[in-house]
Amino acid sequence: MSRIDLHLHTTHSDGSLSPAEVLRLAHKAGVTALSITDHDIVSGIPEALAVGADLGIEIIPGVEISSRVGNSELHILGYCIRWQDSELIQRLAALRESRHRRNPQIIEQLRSLGLDVTYEEVRTLAGTDAIGRPHIARLLMDKRFATSAKDAFDRYLAEGRPAYVARELPVPADAIGWIRAAGGVAVLAHPTWANVSGEGLNSLLSTLKAEGLGGIEVHYSTHTKRQTMDYLDLAKRLDLLVTGGSDFHGITKPDIEVGTGRGDLKVPRRLLDPLKEAAIGLGPP
Ligand code: AMP
Ligand code: ZN
Ligand code: FE
Ligand code: FE
Repeated sequence: MSRIDLHLHTTHSDGSLSPAEVLRLAHKAGVTALSITDHDIVSGIPEALAVGADLGIEIIPGVEISSRVGNSELHILGYCIRWQDSELIQRLAALRESRHRRNPQIIEQLRSLGLDVTYEEVRTLAGTDAIGRPHIARLLMDKRFATSAKDAFDRYLAEGRPAYVARELPVPADAIGWIRAAGGVAVLAHPTWANVSGEGLNSLLSTLKAEGLGGIEVHYSTHTKRQTMDYLDLAKRLDLLVTGGSDFHGITKPDIEVGTGRGDLKVPRRLLDPLKEAAIGLGPP
């Protein structure tokens, strides 16, 4: 049974490896289909398609959009999107703008804590327009203000820490709507982030489904067997598609590998056809 990986980040957002490098690792891990799901940007897809054709890896055009409802930050994955859709590209550019409004405020907080960092340094290090906190974490590591990305988040960047600044985020219904408008299937990423379980999660997912959500990321690097079973059960009950991926980022999540996560991730290839069929079922452009 071959494996797939539907959640991967590259240098086009806050991952530390290029699409080509990610695909080479995927190939080694026996991954036969994958999705590059960079935050708020689709510019890594052409390279993935080219290298995928060479290596015999099927590429599902993807993206990850952060949203907020109440106190929960929900990440919505978009699959089988028409990635060249001009409306989608405009929406994503607007989301990146909200990053550029927030990030300098984070830098100001860090400077006021006595850390000598500038946003120019972050931009240079990132080399992309989709700049996230992991890039700031990497600068803090390079400058020896933090020993790891986890250390940088724990000390400065995570919610509740002194350099945390909230970003303006869309509501999930908007993120789902933009993905659907580009012909894609919207999937709730890493559902543990919802901070609800049991009946609370059931009702959240029912609401999201009514707003157009098509699936849930059941298989994920950090899920316990129990969590995977519970999410699988929920997907069945709510008639949502099942997806999965590693959420590979490279050096800011050093324990997570392409295709295998922390070693025991295996996303079965049979999940792919229902996903593609759902995208086709959404109808012509
Ligand atoms: P941002 O999109 O700029 O708000 O940054 C959030 C991203 O940072 C998430 O999507 C994760 O990829 C990453 N992240 C969050 N917490 C941590 C952590 N403790 N260590 C490493 N990366 C993290
Ligand atoms: Zn990320
Ligand atoms: Fe995410
Ligand atoms: Fe992600």
